[in-house]
Amino acid sequence: MNVLILGGTSESRLLAARLSQDSRFDPLTSRGGRVSDPQLPEGDSRVGGFGGADGLATWIHSHAIEVVVDATHPFAATMSGNAAMAAASAGVPLLRLNRPEWTARAGDVWLDASTPADAARMVESFSERAFLTIGRLGVWAFAGNSRTWFLIRSIDAPVDELPTRHELVLARGPFDIDDEIATMREHRIDVVVSKNSGGAMTEGKLVAARRLGIPVVMIARPPASPSDHVTDSVDGAVAWLRSRL
Ligand code: NAP
Repeated sequence: MNVLILGGTSESRLLAARLSQDSRFDPLTSRGGRVSDPQLPEGDSRVGGFGGADGLATWIHSHAIEVVVDATHPFAATMSGNAAMAAASAGVPLLRLNRPEWTARAGDVWLDASTPADAARMVESFSERAFLTIGRLGVWAFAGNSRTWFLIRSIDAPVDELPTRHELVLARGPFDIDDEIATMREHRIDVVVSKNSGGAMTEGKLVAARRLGIPVVMIARPPASPSDHVTDSVDGAVAWLRSRL
């Protein structure tokens, strides 16, 4: 079975590794190509956009793809929308592999934001020193805030305008809870801003915020695109793909 995995996540790499060990599957992973030092998947891969939903549909046909797995990041909404349209027009099934969301636990103080712009308004209303951990996309929404000092952390530097008062740290998870606590203490952080990405790799900041009693402005995931099946685990994805052999 020729499987196109739309990747860019740790789950997509795990899935590619699992399918590569099973001779019944021929997986090929596609990455967006925005990260300068990517972690490469096992098996075949390609990099860069397809040229929208039509380009992806054409690519699916020309590479005899039989199943598409959308294992992109929960916030890669454009790619997920394109995958839904392309799979439907190419007549191939689409599996969505989406890691579980984080949910608030006892002791958490979460302020729900619907978008980065919404989060930026909240932060400006009360924060003096914010820890902005939303990756490099969406940081532009905070650029107009001259009241708050920001500690901004992302894998690659944001290309958009940044808030005037900030320090930029380039780092890739996983992040240790004790290190996160030390960082928040050192910079006297009074709010953490996060996307609800889910996953263990970057959850340490939420545990640290809970222990320190620091509120978290949590940006909700964009709406899901249609698919034939949704799973939140690599095991679930492998089982569903096997059921279609
Ligand atoms: P996006 O806004 O949904 O997509 C923008 C465009 O980038 C798409 O229309 C597509 O171009 C291209 N693209 C995105 N993912 C692709 C993939 N896996 N293979 C080929 N082309 C892809 O995506 P994004 O939020 O910039 O994310 C880009 C990549 O980074 C994805 O692989 C995603 O899983 C990963 N990532 C995203 C985030 C995040 O917070 N958004 C975090 C970690 C990792 P065409 O229309 O030309 O096909």
